[in-house]
Amino acid sequence: MNNKILSLFLCILFIVTSFSVAAMTKTSQIKNADDLKTSCHIKIYKDNAQTLVSNLLEEGFDVLRDKITESTFELIVTPNEIKKIESIGIDFEIISRGRPFIEIQKEMQKNPSFIPPGYSDLTEIIDEMNETESNYPDICKVYDLTETYGCSETYEGRHIYAIKISDNVEDDEDEPSFLMVSCHHAREIGTPVIALYSIEQFTSEYGSDPDITSIVDDYEIWISPVWNPDGYEYCYYYDNMWRKNRRPPNGVDLNRNYPFGWNSGCSGSTDPYSETYKGPSCASEPETQTMIAFTNDRHFAKVLDYHSYGSEVLYGYCCHSHPFSSFFETEAVALSNAAGYYGSIRVPSAEGENYEWQIWGNGTYANLMETHVEFQPSYSSALAEAEKVFPGTMWMLERPISVSGHVVDSITGEPLNAKIEIEDVSFSNDEKFFCEPNFGRYHLFLPSGTYNIKFECENYNSQTHEVTVTSTSEEILEVELARINCPPNKPSIDGPSIGKSGEEITFHFTATDPDDDDIDYYVKWGDGNSIEWDGPHKSGETVTFSHIWERKGTYDIWAKARDVYGEESGIEVFTITIEKKSKNVIGETNIFKLLLYRLFQNFQKLIT
Ligand SMILES: [Zn+2]
Repeated sequence: MNNKILSLFLCILFIVTSFSVAAMTKTSQIKNADDLKTSCHIKIYKDNAQTLVSNLLEEGFDVLRDKITESTFELIVTPNEIKKIESIGIDFEIISRGRPFIEIQKEMQKNPSFIPPGYSDLTEIIDEMNETESNYPDICKVYDLTETYGCSETYEGRHIYAIKISDNVEDDEDEPSFLMVSCHHAREIGTPVIALYSIEQFTSEYGSDPDITSIVDDYEIWISPVWNPDGYEYCYYYDNMWRKNRRPPNGVDLNRNYPFGWNSGCSGSTDPYSETYKGPSCASEPETQTMIAFTNDRHFAKVLDYHSYGSEVLYGYCCHSHPFSSFFETEAVALSNAAGYYGSIRVPSAEGENYEWQIWGNGTYANLMETHVEFQPSYSSALAEAEKVFPGTMWMLERPISVSGHVVDSITGEPLNAKIEIEDVSFSNDEKFFCEPNFGRYHLFLPSGTYNIKFECENYNSQTHEVTVTSTSEEILEVELARINCPPNKPSIDGPSIGKSGEEITFHFTATDPDDDDIDYYVKWGDGNSIEWDGPHKSGETVTFSHIWERKGTYDIWAKARDVYGEESGIEVFTITIEKKSKNVIGETNIFKLLLYRLFQNFQKLIT
């Protein structure tokens, strides 16, 4: 038991001794907590509940924020957590126990107001994504992200999927990327409904709704309905209150496993049996590793992470500071309004969440949206919620990117993995702003103001540009950086030092470039002939040229190399002596032919 847990224990003991008589009359409804195999939704009775709520939240308990009153509150607990609560004598009642969601759905289906098809299990969700791909092959493509990025499968051997929606969907186009992800938390089963509804909107309305059409044309939209496939299936078929993934012994809270702030004072719980267990190490989970690989490749400009429940938008960090926090707050209010949540916002409960990591590592415009007012509403209500929040998704997609463009090599046009520094703004958590690898594209979301933006890349001269940003700015700033270049080394020349006139003689030339640039060769044969800038050839690759000298003599072969920037190496010289070719018409080695020739010469002498 660490000090933190011990102090909580003592604190709770103290609180317990001050229980009101009314609360003491409640009795817990379980005889033996050991019998519990699934999560439970419980209600705790406690006068002036706030102190206990704060302590439990700090210990990683999953308190339902909208169910806190003066003297009661509700939370979802694992069997272990319920034992902990029971052992310190806190009075509680079980509102419901976890059971297969499919049973609940069957009961819902008996209700006359039930609207089919109802919630899908994981296989049906993936089938639906594949079906959309075959219905809209020009704008839809399903990716197995686990396979694409060579990531580990989930603990139970599953893969994670996303659908890409964009014009020319087969191509990796130079467009900003948007990610909608849902169901990091298994029991939040209304959130895949939001993702699937959005997929349907972007595809079926493409070509008829002008706003959707231009968004699909201008963005690469990625939607992943279930980021926690093991947890989702477990919730569907075993315990509808399950939150985490399925790593033994009791799962990891995937939205506490991301690197930013993982080791901080406001990270998730270190107790493997807690609902908010952050994992044995940062990014320990295959699901997290897949998101990291996916993000490093796509560099999402915008991320919307759907959760439930709460009807509010989460913004910024929990306990770390960010220089743009008030900008994030204003933007979150606008997003909340667009999603029908009347400007309701809050900061997150902990660090280690996906959207926080996206902000930190990529300067991404990222938010988490808590949807609905319960984890598992009726299917028709979940669908209505999806319809309600879709304008929020569209609002985020249409929100202008304050400054964007590309950073490329000024000569070759190659994209650069440039670092972008916003001068005069101090970021205290080593926040990162880099160009994406495929096109050198970058994005910056900035509060109104004037900034000096510095673009740097190793071996290049950096550049600083002044930009003035307003809330509606959509500045395009293209940057071409000049390389600090090294010329290639002198080529080596390899070949014979003696040759004969009229015969083709072969030479090998090899030059390397310290920057590994491609190389052109210039060769002068010393007799007025030359090869002018043959190339490009790979640095270090041996290139072969041949030449025929017509006359005997001593010749200086002279060679130099240049790289793609036009910088030239020094000159290498190689001397060759060309001898007169033998006058023998017939090779001396063929004695029989030689004898015939001699006979013929003698015969000529005789007849003249
Ligand atoms: Zn959640």
